[in-house]
Formats: sequence, structure tokens, C-alpha cells
Amino acid sequence: MSTVLNFKQYEMQKAKNYVNEVYEAVKKRDPHEKEFHQAVKEILFSLVPVFAKHPKYMEGGILERLVEPERIITFRVPWVDDHGKVKVNRGFRVQFNGAIGPYKGGIRFHPSVNASIIKFLGFEQIFKNSLTGQPIGGGKGGSDFDPKGKSDGEIMRFTQSFMTELFNYIGPDTDVPAGDIGVGAREIGYMFGQYKRMVGSYHAGVLTGKGIGYGGSLARKEATGYGTVYFVQEMLQDKGLSFEGKTVVVSGSGNVSIYAMKKAIQLGAKVIACSDSNGYVYCKNGINLHTVKRLKEVERKRIREYVKEHPHAEYHEGCTGIWAIPCDIALPCATQNEIDENAAKLLVVNGVIAIGEGANMPSTLEAIDVFLNNRVLFGPAKAANAGGVAVSSLEMAQNSMRISWSFEEVDAKLHQIMTNIYRNSVNAANEYGHPGNLVVGANIAGFLKVADAMMAHGIV
Ligand code: NAP
Repeated sequence: MSTVLNFKQYEMQKAKNYVNEVYEAVKKRDPHEKEFHQAVKEILFSLVPVFAKHPKYMEGGILERLVEPERIITFRVPWVDDHGKVKVNRGFRVQFNGAIGPYKGGIRFHPSVNASIIKFLGFEQIFKNSLTGQPIGGGKGGSDFDPKGKSDGEIMRFTQSFMTELFNYIGPDTDVPAGDIGVGAREIGYMFGQYKRMVGSYHAGVLTGKGIGYGGSLARKEATGYGTVYFVQEMLQDKGLSFEGKTVVVSGSGNVSIYAMKKAIQLGAKVIACSDSNGYVYCKNGINLHTVKRLKEVERKRIREYVKEHPHAEYHEGCTGIWAIPCDIALPCATQNEIDENAAKLLVVNGVIAIGEGANMPSTLEAIDVFLNNRVLFGPAKAANAGGVAVSSLEMAQNSMRISWSFEEVDAKLHQIMTNIYRNSVNAANEYGHPGNLVVGANIAGFLKVADAMMAHGIV
């Protein structure tokens, strides 16, 4: 008995040393890429039980290869503003891992975009895409361009210039970008138009998130937000709970947030707060989603305008205060590291029962520990927000078949995919000795498929 235990302990220690060596090498190679290190750390250390059980992945150098992108493209994006002034931004595309299919992942336009942010997003995307059960590899892209306050003409000229370089590296069978922060239907439309012009033929499957009239999928716009809520619904159901009558706080008021709010409200919850990068609105009687949608999707205004139409609501400057509002369920749907350790502790003290990460890496590693240690139901981003990329993949399938499914068909497939992701994550967590820990479960479930494909392909 004790020999078996010692052998197991030995295998675990060997696996820990291996993971640690790879992690240290990542930090040494690119010491300034803090966000990338954070994403790598979260995933790598949760894989220790896998390496202990299956040393073949260590011998195959899977981790050393996984943490190094297959390709990073960095390029100049020159454009001319409305005053005739020449501007230059930097464009990125990381093609991180194509073991299970063409690279797939969004494009982000935000001034904070740099190699570290794009690499963290691309790295996460590998596991997320694998979890969806679809044949898609991991990629991500973007630019430090700030779309806020820009005219339509400026957005179009910038986006066209961005695609004039990017088109060299993408294609329906190589790399299929989509939207992300700052890139919605308008930007995808301009990118698609420029791609079509550059290649001289119509490849609907080269981008997803397209308009419905030219190859887009019904329910893609809703998919990430709806999917996050479906995932949380699964976590709640397992505990005999539901959204009915719960209070919900949602950060952000962009694509993911709006449709997370919509689905939560449909399921009987009351959404009491949402935000943008300037501040948040709190309305104890429930946020009026029609107003938020109009302000954000149509008029592109700030969330502070909400209180002009709903004077009983409160507006507060600054983003972090939103987590001090007592709620049953918190859905961070804005950006990375928006919930730190203190915010997590406040949520716990105020009685939160579930967290669903709609955004990518919205909780710091310390915040995640607070949630897990306090037995809060925690749906990690790469599982909970995988609905967007899953429906993007369904959009690619429809493009290939030259057919369009109804909203209800796509929504039903999305719901099923989210249920499968939840179940697979639960099962992997149980199998590898971490019951109830969906961070570990999702990481392991996502990893195994990619690792097996990489092993099958040889050293490439
Ligand atoms: P979006 O439409 O551009 O919306 C982002 C929202 O977050 C905006 O309301 C923005 O406010 C707000 N925001 C940004 N920084 C903030 C901060 N520090 N505090 C509070 N609010 C802040 O982008 P999105 O597509 O919804 O993406 C949101 C998150 O979901 C990102 O992490 C993205 O990577 C992730 N995600 C998106 C998809 C998808 O399908 N779109 C799929 C998976 C994951 P401002 O308007 O003031 O900037």
C-alpha cells in the first residue's frame, strides 16, 4: 500500500517539476508578458495530475510546444483620420495551435492590446475551442487602435488597412477570425468587404460574426452571453437551484453583457447592475435592458446616460465598485482581471452563490482561489464563454454547406454544447481528483484532445 502511495507521490512530484520548469522557461523567455504568464500558470498547474497519470505527454514535450505559438504576425496599420492626419497602429495575429483544426479566435481593438494580451487570449482559446467539441484550433488577433470616439469613416479606413495586411494569413481553412472587444458587426462587415476585394472571390467562411444577409448565423450575436447563462444554469441545477428570483450583477454593457442580461432576465432573474469602462449603473428594481441596448448598440453612448431616462437608478464613476453590490450571481462580462482578490472577498461576504465568467480571464488567480475556497459555484471563462466560438463554428459549418439554420436550431445546438462542456468539465475534475473544481476540469478536458492530436502528428 505504502509503495503504491510513494510511487504515486513520486509521479506527482515529477509532473509538478516538469510543469514548473516549463512555466519558469515561459517567464524567462518573455519576462514582460504578465497576462500571458497568468493564463499559462492557471492552465499548466491544473494539468499536473494528467502528467502524473500519463507521462507520455511529458516525454512528447507537449507543454513546451503548447506554450510557444506556432506563429505570431505583427504588422503596421497606417490610416488617415478625418482631419487628414496619418496615424499608425500595430496589428497582431497569433496562430497559437492548429492541432485540431484551423486557427479560430476573435480580433480585439483596444488601446491596451499588445503581444502579451493577444498571447494570453490565444492560449486560452486553444483549450476553449477544444472544449466546444468542434474541430477548431486556437488563435487571436487585434490592434491597439481605440475605436471609441472615432467616426464611421475612420473605423472603415482603419479596418480596411488592418485587413489589407491580415488577408495574407487567413482563409476559411487556415485561420478564421471573429469579433471581440471593440469589434462587432460593423467592423466584421468592413473587414469582410476588404478581404473579398483583396482575394477577388467570395469566401463566406473566412470570418464569423458576419451580418445575417451575407453569411452570418442567427444567434451568433447572442451566443456568448446566452452560453454563459446556460453554463451557470447547469451549475445551479446540479445544486437544485435556478435563476428564478435571483439578483444578478453583470459587468460591461457590450455584446457579451447585453445577451447575458437578456437570457438571465428570460430565466426569471433580476439584473440589478451593469457597467462600461467609465462607471456602473445600479437599479434595485431591475435594469431596463431596452434602454441599455439602445444606448450601447444603436447610439453608442456611455452607460451614465442611463440615469437620465431612469432617475431612480444610481450611476457611480469607476468600474470596481460594481462588485460591492450584494447579489446572488455575478457575471463578469467586460475584460481581464476586473475581479481581484478584494472584489472576490466582497462578493463572498455579500453572499454570492455563483460566478459565470463571460469575459476572458476576468478573475485574477487570487480571486479564483477565494471563490473556490468558499465553495462558490465558479464557471471559468474558457468553459462558460465558449458559446461564442461554438456558434462561430456553426456559422462556418453553415457557410460550407451553403445553408442557414433557424434561430431556434442554432440556439438548441448552443444549449447542448454548453451542457456538454459542463458535463465534460465535471467528469474530468472528478476523474483527476478535484471534484467540484471546474477550473481544473475544463483545463484538463480541453487539454486532452489537443495533446492527443499533437502526439498523433509527431514532433511538429
Ligand atoms: P464589447 O462589445 O466591446 O464590450 C466590452 C464591454 O466591457 C464594454 O461595455 C466596455 O465599456 C466594457 N469594459 C471594458 N473595460 C472595462 C472595465 N475595465 N470595467 C468595466 N467595463 C469595461 O466586447 P465583448 O465582445 O462583449 O467582449 C467582452 C469580453 O468577453 C472580453 O473579455 C472578450 O474577450 C470576451 N469574449 C467575447 C466573445 C464574443 O463573442 N464577443 C466571446 C468570448 C469571450 P466601454 O464601452 O467603455 O469600453
